[in-house]
Amino acid sequence: MKKLLLVSMISAVFAVPAVAEETADIVVIGSGGAGLSSAITAHDLGKKVIVLEKMAYLGGNTNRSTGGLNAAGTKYQAKLGIKDDVQTMINDTMKGGGNINNPELVKTLAENAPGSVDFIIGLGGDLTDVGFMAAATNKRCHRPTGGAPVGPEIVKTLVNASKDRHLDIRTMAKADKILTENGKVVGVQYSQKGKPEQTIKAKAVVIATGGFSANQDMLVKLKPELKGFATTNHPGATGEGIALGESVGAATVDMDQIQTHPTVVPGKGVMLTEAVRGNGAIIVNREGKRFVNEMDTRAAVSKAILDQKGQTAFLLFDQDVRKSLKAIEGYVKGGLTTEGATLDELAKKLGMNAANLKATMATYAKDQANKKDTQFNRPNMERPLTQGPWYAVEITPAVHHTMGGLKINTKAEVLDKAGKPIPGLFAAGEVTGGIHGNNRLGGNAVADIITFGRIAGQSASAVK
Ligand SMILES: Cc1cc2nc3c(=O)[nH]c(=O)nc-3n(C[C@H](O)[C@H](O)[C@H](O)COP(=O)(O)OP(=O)(O)OC[C@H]3O[C@@H](n4cnc5c(N)ncnc54)[C@H](O)[C@@H]3O)c2cc1C
Repeated sequence: MKKLLLVSMISAVFAVPAVAEETADIVVIGSGGAGLSSAITAHDLGKKVIVLEKMAYLGGNTNRSTGGLNAAGTKYQAKLGIKDDVQTMINDTMKGGGNINNPELVKTLAENAPGSVDFIIGLGGDLTDVGFMAAATNKRCHRPTGGAPVGPEIVKTLVNASKDRHLDIRTMAKADKILTENGKVVGVQYSQKGKPEQTIKAKAVVIATGGFSANQDMLVKLKPELKGFATTNHPGATGEGIALGESVGAATVDMDQIQTHPTVVPGKGVMLTEAVRGNGAIIVNREGKRFVNEMDTRAAVSKAILDQKGQTAFLLFDQDVRKSLKAIEGYVKGGLTTEGATLDELAKKLGMNAANLKATMATYAKDQANKKDTQFNRPNMERPLTQGPWYAVEITPAVHHTMGGLKINTKAEVLDKAGKPIPGLFAAGEVTGGIHGNNRLGGNAVADIITFGRIAGQSASAVK
């Protein structure tokens, strides 16, 4: 008995807490566009911020985004003579999302997206080129000069801005648990390989962990028909942020709304940005015929491709389109394109009926000149596709975006099942749901992550 008492006294005096503890004003989970926008915003409001990133690299899926960031009524559009406005972006987003989107979130997105373009440019980024994306009435997709990929530019800009501010960003640091006391969020517990579990006490936590397109089990549970589908996403897009939120009572919304992207290289998972179609490319099947309005929603174009023989098709464009979009150089250099000096040569290389292909191209060029797609009613046909050489890439749909996630309000506060904000908990980016309805428009995710990232940073900073 004496011995037992002694042991417990020694352990009380020398007890090493299993969990090391430190403090911050705000912990941001995830270093993608949403997380870093939120962290920079909060830092600039005078807050001590710690960012946790489970992967060895920063930027998540944001690194991979290629097409651009949608915003309507910007000075960059005006400079290029493009007329557009916030209400048209709202209408396009609601229509594109099957009108199941949360209208308040969509309004907040459209009203604040121009400020997000300014935010990135203000931090030294380049988003001054503007192009078309599918199902958008106007050119509103902001991207770097010459149509270069948007994601690397945004991540580089945000990472440089974080370095300038000496932001505390920890990689290989996986958030495992959100801590609460009396119903209020008070911190995060996280793990780093080879180290004991650590705790950061904080006034607010921002979940910015991205989507779950790389989590086959989760996808198939929600939508069994996605079994075996490839994904365009980075391996860290596995959706733990949703479970973290749910563990402290968060509600979710639209979880079964999962998007496939129609132009992904079979077997490689490499996605060709929608901006290739926006700048003029068409899609043909193995018979050399068009079969869809290429600028229809991703859901519609994906379905049309899966209805073709072999469940693949070919994205086809000419030298004129290639010259118009820097992102295409990466696809050519990566060996993804089949090239033909003539349409006959291209058809031969693809094993396609040359007469059909030439007839398709002639009809398209005529319709383009007359500004009327007599076959599929495509709204914008940017180029006649008459300048060889011509290029083709075999494509098929792959899982691309998860529209559902944690339920938030316009302040990026995470809501519980009764619709009440969970004190101290915020979320932004693809981990949230409700903004994109049943189909996210190209360019609207990057607009979403920067916009709601900034809002989450502001709201989290206001917590006393
Ligand atoms: C190939 C491709 C091209 C795209 N092109 C476009 C485009 O042109 N325009 C557009 O609008 N959208 C595009 N998208 C979609 C867009 O890129 C994403 O929706 C967006 O980048 C998501 O940003 P995020 O900050 O929410 O998440 P991410 O950028 O994915 O960042 C989340 C981060 O959180 C980390 N994380 C996850 N769980 C934890 C945890 N438990 N602890 C710590 N860290 C964690 C992840 O590792 C990741 O780094 C594209 C997507 C892909 C895949």
